[in-house]
Amino acid sequence: MHQSDKTKRLCLIGSTGSIGTQTLDIVRSHPDRYAVSALCAGSNVNRLIEQALEFGPAVAVIADESKYARLKEGLAGSGIEARAGAQAVADAGARADVDMVVNATVGYSGLAPTIAAIRAGKDIALANKETLVVAGDLVRRLLAESRSRLFPIDSEHSAIAQCLAGEEPGSVRRLIITASGGPFRTWTAEQLRTATVADALRHPNWSMGAKITIDSATMMNKAFEIIEAHYLFNIPAERITPVVHPQSIVHSMVEFVDGAVKAQLGIPDMRLPIAYALGECTRLEGASQPLTLPQIVNLTFAHPDTELFPCLTFAQKALERGGNAACVVNAANEIANQAFRDGRIPFCDIYTVTAETLEREPYIAAPDYHDYVGSNMSARRCASEIVSRIAAAR
Ligand code: NDP
Ligand code: MG
Repeated sequence: MHQSDKTKRLCLIGSTGSIGTQTLDIVRSHPDRYAVSALCAGSNVNRLIEQALEFGPAVAVIADESKYARLKEGLAGSGIEARAGAQAVADAGARADVDMVVNATVGYSGLAPTIAAIRAGKDIALANKETLVVAGDLVRRLLAESRSRLFPIDSEHSAIAQCLAGEEPGSVRRLIITASGGPFRTWTAEQLRTATVADALRHPNWSMGAKITIDSATMMNKAFEIIEAHYLFNIPAERITPVVHPQSIVHSMVEFVDGAVKAQLGIPDMRLPIAYALGECTRLEGASQPLTLPQIVNLTFAHPDTELFPCLTFAQKALERGGNAACVVNAANEIANQAFRDGRIPFCDIYTVTAETLEREPYIAAPDYHDYVGSNMSARRCASEIVSRIAAAR
């Protein structure tokens, strides 16, 4: 490796996933700028071993402890330390040889590593939006007391950050978050009732992990992105407008008090926002292919249909209630999303499971970290019961 004083040393959490592998593409192309000190994955131990042998981190961590022996065997003689378990994942980001934590794990598992990184004063490039959905208030408080900075990877939030560069914070009137509309944008309510997992996994513009692809199909992903934008940019939900833009060329927009609207455009390629976050909001030459003009003649924008995609309404509901409400929505959605992928519940019941869980779970007005942990567990139990009831009645 061509390490120098300027090389940024990364801890990559979720290295075997969609964002993780694209992050490693950037590291591979820029060994002068980036090196990897720690790689962490969930359970794909063979892929993790391959990556570790290629990138030579000091430590490789597998969250699934049952895979530890295989990891240790695969790394034998390499000098790379093998570790396992959730605590080891969180510890990896706090290491002295880490400058930035790239958090690209999926779901609730992203919260603890984000908090550990903030406590250790590390910068964070955040793909794991669930971190801010679950505990946005807490994360914002901890960031205010820490020297760590948070750089969004999510394409919409990267676009907004790019539009806000050089602008006065007080000059923003609203954020306009674009949504592709997912694979079911043109479907009827009748068709949605029989949507299959294969249908839902067929995203028109982006190739992503299974969980976020289903969240895009229900538009829960857009609800999460509104919550994420609220915490990242400190804008109330009523000034964050989702708009359906099927071409995914305009990645999001900001409207200013004088009526000006700034947009960031590009082909759908996550390597651009990943590189922008790794570079602390600076541009990396050649991060993605440029747009060609004929690609942008046909840009369309429409209001989302919240009757067809009621999950979108969880953003407003959760932010209005505050407290642990968004944590409950996230937990219920994780259970319902997985249950749909397992063929246990129909597509439309992802909404009903989440809505019922939100009504049933106790409200906590000012949760601390342990309250979030407890609320997440309790909401998952509640959602699992509802799933079992629906599955048994089918
Ligand atoms: P993937 O499912 O493709 O990847 C998830 C990664 O997380 C895998 O490496 C997985 O490991 C790892 N992982 C799972 N559980 C744990 C755990 N407990 N500890 C450590 N690592 C774990 O997801 P994506 O890459 O698509 O998405 C990651 C995050 O980025 C999500 O929050 C998503 O919403 C967000 N995001 C993704 C975008 C995309 O284009 N993909 C765009 C915008 C945001 P393994 O495979 O080994 O089990
Ligand atoms: Mg996004």
